[in-house]
Amino acid sequence: ARVHSNVTSLNDVNDYSKPADLYKDKLLGGLLAAGFDEDSCLSRYQSFLYRKTAPHKPSPYLLSKLRNYEDLHIRCGPHTRSYNKMVEQLKSGHSTGSTDCQYVVWISFSGLGNRILTLASAFLYALLTNRVLLVDRGKDMDDLFCEPFPEKSWFLPLDFPITDQFNDFNHESPQCHGNMLKKNIINTSTESLPSYLYLHLIHDYQDHDKLFFCDGDQGILGKVPWLIMKTDNYFVPSLFLIPSFEHELSKLFPEKETVFHLLGRYLFHPSNHVWGLITRYYQAYLAKADERIGIQIRIFDTGTGPFQYVIDQILACTQKEKLLPKVDTQESVVTPADNPKLKVVLMTSLNSGYFENFRNMYWEHPTVTGDVVGVYQPSHEEFQQTEKKLHNRKAWAEMYLLSLTDMLVTSSWSTFGYVAQGLGGLKPWILMKPENQTAPDPPCQRAMSMEPCFHAPPFYDCKAKKGIDTGALVPHVRHCEDMSWGLKVV
Ligand code: GDP
Repeated sequence: ARVHSNVTSLNDVNDYSKPADLYKDKLLGGLLAAGFDEDSCLSRYQSFLYRKTAPHKPSPYLLSKLRNYEDLHIRCGPHTRSYNKMVEQLKSGHSTGSTDCQYVVWISFSGLGNRILTLASAFLYALLTNRVLLVDRGKDMDDLFCEPFPEKSWFLPLDFPITDQFNDFNHESPQCHGNMLKKNIINTSTESLPSYLYLHLIHDYQDHDKLFFCDGDQGILGKVPWLIMKTDNYFVPSLFLIPSFEHELSKLFPEKETVFHLLGRYLFHPSNHVWGLITRYYQAYLAKADERIGIQIRIFDTGTGPFQYVIDQILACTQKEKLLPKVDTQESVVTPADNPKLKVVLMTSLNSGYFENFRNMYWEHPTVTGDVVGVYQPSHEEFQQTEKKLHNRKAWAEMYLLSLTDMLVTSSWSTFGYVAQGLGGLKPWILMKPENQTAPDPPCQRAMSMEPCFHAPPFYDCKAKKGIDTGALVPHVRHCEDMSWGLKVV
């Protein structure tokens, strides 16, 4: 069920032949809990209207785990009796061993794509360790997303005692888990543990920080009620390599590559103003298309662009993979096709040059198939900006719009693209990274799975205490297509 021009609200789909199926669809196969106030978050129960029915169903075990998590969150969430008690313990500095409620606090850090991936990683970690996830709202988290859990907020209360230290936490902080291990202040036999630890999981993390991914250290962390986490990486692939999580993960996700896809659809509901950006754009430019092709362009080279070698690369990729028709540069007269299709390209980029080039090409020349190609780009913000509300709203809307396309082309290394592919359940064609300003050959490669890539994984064998290729241990955790040292779940 997708919104085409005549279906714009849930009321319009009352003529569904099987109401029970509609209800199931609306809750994404049981992924979403029923009973939320619909007006305060329109996207939660309307998203299914814009998507093809999801072929990737959540496992019954994942569903029961999510419902249990929701109960836990209600019992331990902000300002509950348990929460207040645990905050007192935090202030006292020492863990009393009471495991009534335990928490993982996610610190808002890095670009929006990164934040969405790390939040999903932190939530999975919370599910695996029976912790409650609380979210530092940073500058704009509450502007961009709806509350995902019933009754109790996922946001860390504003009066949380150590929020003012979040910015300064780094791998040398006295409360840093890795730093404490390095200085041997804590180890696997330490009796008296602190009431909180800071987990430094940013790409610059050190060997001791990486012990987070070892079973022995998970044993220590299990006794610490508050874990405060700062990360810019999708660290899920390495959770699959921790033996004590292995069994649980295989029950939660029998189809392994659906981790971000399912958790993402569960957690990330655009707030009402972002939903407005998404639905207005979709209805104006995408709804009537026979085929929607998303092209996400993110250039990490210096200089402003547009670069001719990138234009060449996108063209080579979309034509070689038959995502878009070739144009006939000789003929200006169209031979009408029997059944011409309307193909709509949704381009996203900080720069408008690529879009102008493609739009002009398909306007100035006919396609050899007779199909018509419309090219649209919602914004061109020129450079990455932080702390500007509309900028990040647009970025989120664009990731979401890309996820509504039928075929997706993404840029190497970009978490912006990973979010789109994961939410959409799409295996993208990845534009390989140009070297020395030259388009690579082949220009793009089909992704093995829809999962994001972990850009800075550890290469450590916790048992043997030596380096190891963590991309060669199990068949379902491999090196990424776009980053040879990265890891992804396939
Ligand atoms: P990454 O750097 O590609 O991994 O993605 P992030 O989302 O973490 O950071 C890039 C940031 O730059 C985004 O959050 C946006 O603020 C901005 N940005 C990058 N590409 C685009 C784009 O195509 N459209 C918009 N609106 N913003 C973009």
